Amino acid sequence: MAVPMKFLSEELDAMKQAGLYGTIRTLESPQGAWVHIDGKKYLNLCSNNYLGLCNDPRLVAKVKEYTDKYGVGPGAVRTIAGTMSPHIELEKKLAAFKGAEAAIVIQSGFCANLTVIPTLAGGADDLIFSDSLNHASIIDACRLSKAKVIRYEHSDMADLAKKLEENSAVKGRKLLITDGVFSMDGDIAKLPEIVDLCEKNGVIVAVDDAHGEGVLGRGGRGIVDHFNLHGRVDVEIGTMSKAFGVMGGMAAGSTVLVDYLRQKARPNLFSSALTIPDVAANLASVEILQESETLVKKLWSNGDFLKKELKAMGFDTAHSETPITPVIIGEASDAKVFSAKLFERGVFATAIVFPTVPRGTARIRAMVSAAHSEDDLRFAVEQFASVGREMGIIS
Ligand SMILES: *Cc1c(COP(=O)(O)O)cnc(C)c1O
Repeated sequence: MAVPMKFLSEELDAMKQAGLYGTIRTLESPQGAWVHIDGKKYLNLCSNNYLGLCNDPRLVAKVKEYTDKYGVGPGAVRTIAGTMSPHIELEKKLAAFKGAEAAIVIQSGFCANLTVIPTLAGGADDLIFSDSLNHASIIDACRLSKAKVIRYEHSDMADLAKKLEENSAVKGRKLLITDGVFSMDGDIAKLPEIVDLCEKNGVIVAVDDAHGEGVLGRGGRGIVDHFNLHGRVDVEIGTMSKAFGVMGGMAAGSTVLVDYLRQKARPNLFSSALTIPDVAANLASVEILQESETLVKKLWSNGDFLKKELKAMGFDTAHSETPITPVIIGEASDAKVFSAKLFERGVFATAIVFPTVPRGTARIRAMVSAAHSEDDLRFAVEQFASVGREMGIIS
């Protein structure tokens, strides 16, 4: 290989040596409770397909209907080629679902943070307050802003209050951004306290509700609904790649906020819109959520069941408050062995290691879905028990 490119194989080899090179499995089936890998069936405990909508026939039917009518591609960025009516239809439906005045549809959840954060707090005089466990897309969005980023200790309201106080004289715009649900531990941001502190200090509140969308609140309306904070959270950022089962991001809030983002946010000005199949499938997801709470209730009862059973066997499931079920193993190498042994027994559950989680807290993160049956979850529990005993993690 040409000398200037040698770093590629060198760094990849170093990752392999350190056990940090990830194997990416190929799925030969749709996402669902079970998936096919190398011709075999595995119980799926990896996906964010919370409600099992990834392969729902109602989404597929809507995609067929809309692609017959509107084709596939959006043609160019919305501000130049015009926006297509399905995108507007989805924005109206999302705003109504979330109880917000307006919403803008964005290409992905990752992109939604790039849309909101540098646009609202981008100047060198601005400040961004960011939880220390915020998602990588929030960290990258902060890097795209010229603002000074002030990290506060994870969900530590005393630390946040202190940092707000220390910066009370700063004249620029101030924005606080937090994950709604923290994806590796499943704990929920202390949003009521955050909103109180931000209101006192004149700080804009933005919450990235990626893991709360379709999960928290009445019928999955999200974290703002969960805490009944309607009208007090300035920006709700979300994704449609998790519970909605598709792809796409969003930001919801006041009409003027959405108008501002449409005119100023660089991902809206310089990147084309979601495709029609994405938009159509998302429309079907919102309709399903609006019609019934059944799937959301099933998700929570499945999560509660799995947590209760794993805890009863002696596993450490940390302090999750949501269906996300971390099973703490400790060392990265042990977590990888645990995951490999689960795989041999027909359970697909990836090990999560440093730098995604702190050293010494490597884990298997079990993601339940409304698509799992009780038998599926019993099967999972049996395999966890078998591996846990074999490795001496439980007795
Ligand atoms: C998953 C996730 C994202 C990324 O969403 P995509 O739609 O997959 O790009 C952004 N923020 C948080 C907090 C997430 O958990």
